[in-house]
Amino acid sequence: MSPSRKGDPLEMKRINRRAILEALKGSRSLTRAELARRLGLTKSTISSLMDQLVSEGLVLSRGDTLRPKSQLGRPGVEVGLNPAGAVALGAELGVENSVVLAVDWTGTLLFREEWGADPRTPLSERLERLTQVTRHALQRHPEALGLGLALPGVVDARGWLHYAPNLGWRDFSVAEALQARLPFPVHIENDANSSAAGEVFFTPRQGQLAYLMLGTGLGVGLVHAGTVLRGANGAFGEVGHWLGSSPKRCRCGRVSCLETEVSLRAMLEHYHALGGKAKDFWEVLKQAQTGHRLAVESLAELGRALGRLIANLAVAYDPERVVLGGAGAEAWDYLQQPLRQAVEEHAFLRQHQRLEVQPSLFGHLAPAMGAAALVLHSFLASGGLREHPASPVAMQGK
Ligand SMILES: [Zn+2]
Repeated sequence: MSPSRKGDPLEMKRINRRAILEALKGSRSLTRAELARRLGLTKSTISSLMDQLVSEGLVLSRGDTLRPKSQLGRPGVEVGLNPAGAVALGAELGVENSVVLAVDWTGTLLFREEWGADPRTPLSERLERLTQVTRHALQRHPEALGLGLALPGVVDARGWLHYAPNLGWRDFSVAEALQARLPFPVHIENDANSSAAGEVFFTPRQGQLAYLMLGTGLGVGLVHAGTVLRGANGAFGEVGHWLGSSPKRCRCGRVSCLETEVSLRAMLEHYHALGGKAKDFWEVLKQAQTGHRLAVESLAELGRALGRLIANLAVAYDPERVVLGGAGAEAWDYLQQPLRQAVEEHAFLRQHQRLEVQPSLFGHLAPAMGAAALVLHSFLASGGLREHPASPVAMQGK
C-alpha cells in the first residue's frame, strides 16, 4: 500500500475497513466499542463503517446470536464476520487427483467435488474438466469471488507455469487459459505455497510457517509475516530438487534430487525393494493399519528421513512451526514418532529440538483450501470492496 496515498479518503476507507475485517476475523465477535478501542478509531468512524459493512452483508450485528446468552449485562452492539459474506472457489490439479471446492472466509466447506486423473492426461484435457466442474460449483455459489488453483509445479506471479516435473508440463500460461473460460478472477499458485497460505488464513496463528508438502514429490511453502515467499521465478522452497547423493534419476531429468529419496514415490520403491507388495502409498498405509511389520517400518523410515529434512529446513528457514501436508500427512500416526526423534537428534540449535511439527488441518484438501484462501485474502486486503479488487497476488507481496 503506497504511503503517498494515505491522505486519499477512499484509500483511508479501504485501510480502515481492512483493519476492521481483520480484527473480526481474528476473534469471534467484538463490540463496536471494543473495535474502536483496539483500532484507535473514533466511535463515529466505526459506526459509519460498520453500517456499510453490515448493509453489504460482510458483517453481522446481532448481539444475542453472537455472544452466549449466559453473559448478561449490557453487551453493547456485538459484531462479527458474516460467514456467508465472502466465498471463494479453490481447486487443485494434483498429479493423480483433482478437486474443486467452495469455502467461506471462516473456513467452512460449502461444496466439494473430487475426481481422479491419469498423470499422462494432457494439461488441456485436465483444464477442460476443471472448467466444467468450476462452472458447476459457480451455479451453486454464484456469489464466489474468484477461483484459486494449486498446481504441483513452479508457478510465477503472472500464473505462468514454468515446470511441473511430475506431470511433464512446461511453459504454459494456465492463468490466461482459465481466465478465458471463466467469468471471474483466477489466481494460480504452487501447491505447497497455497497450502501454507491456507494454514495461516484459516487459523488465528500468524508467525513464520514452513509447510512441508509430502506427496508424489516434495516441496515447501513458506509464509513470513503473512506473505507467501515465492522467489524470483516461483521456485522458492522447491526442496525436492535439492541435490543430494542419491544415484537415482529424478522426474526433472537430473540425478540425485532429494525427492528420489524422500517422497511417497521413493517410499513405495523402497517398500517394493524390501519385498513389500502394494500398488500405491494408500495400500502401504492400509497394510500398516493392520499391523503389517514391513509397512510400519517403511513409514517409520520415511518419518526419520523427514525428520532429517526438517532439521535442514530449520537452519535454512528457521520457522516457528512446520506443518506436514500432502497425502503423506495421512500417515501422520506412523511418521510422527520417528520424525520427532530425528528432529531432536539432528537439531542444530537447541531450540530446534522442540520445533513444533503438526499435520495439516485440511488433509489432502489443503492445496485447494489454500488456493481459495488466496482469493479471500486479497478480498480482505482490499477492505472487502468488490469494486476495487486487490491484486490476486497480494499475499505474495510486491
Ligand atoms: Zn529433480
